[in-house]
Amino acid sequence: MSAHDHDHDHDHGSELSEVQLRVRALETVLTEKGYVDPTVLDRIVEHFETRVGPHVGARIVARAWTDPAFRAALLADATRAVNESGSFEPIGDHLVAVENTPEQHNVVVCTLCSCYPWDVLGLPPVWYKSAPYRSRVVMDPRSVLADFRVSLPEGTRVRVWDSTAETRYLVVPERPAGTDGWSEERLAALVTRDSMIGTGLALDPAEVSS
Ligand code: FE
Repeated sequence: MSAHDHDHDHDHGSELSEVQLRVRALETVLTEKGYVDPTVLDRIVEHFETRVGPHVGARIVARAWTDPAFRAALLADATRAVNESGSFEPIGDHLVAVENTPEQHNVVVCTLCSCYPWDVLGLPPVWYKSAPYRSRVVMDPRSVLADFRVSLPEGTRVRVWDSTAETRYLVVPERPAGTDGWSEERLAALVTRDSMIGTGLALDPAEVSS
């Protein structure tokens, strides 16, 4: 994405986007009426901005790539594997990990609204919530993947997983070639947010500066 892909729908005299202004107005009203405590709101926002994000999922994926027992446990019951490992912040119920293989590529959507594995990926990207993504990825996943510049071998089946309020999916991308012996931390740097939604692949080691 270029630096110019942001929303230009705001008044250029303001630093804030239209959405930010609306959120701020809503927050002011709710605070004035005593419905919400602004310090609590700040803490929630801070939590999602700094502690929860794709870096959490990336560490989980890197662990799965390097630890066969963890990988097996993750694919069997992701919430349980993560919470019992003792290495990660506790996450909520019903997380399902789906693994990409040469035979099957997995893509995650929420066709009804915008359910997303916040615990491990943080806030969803705007496109994830857009109507075109939600409808097109079900009907024609390969064309959506092409928009994301992902092309898969002909023989690879694409499976689309529809999230619900109950079940959230985390894609475990394929481990890139040329990463033998890499540490978990180094591997985690190859795991992008989109690769864990299925609209991207893990980065090639050549793409990241060492
Ligand atoms: Fe949803």
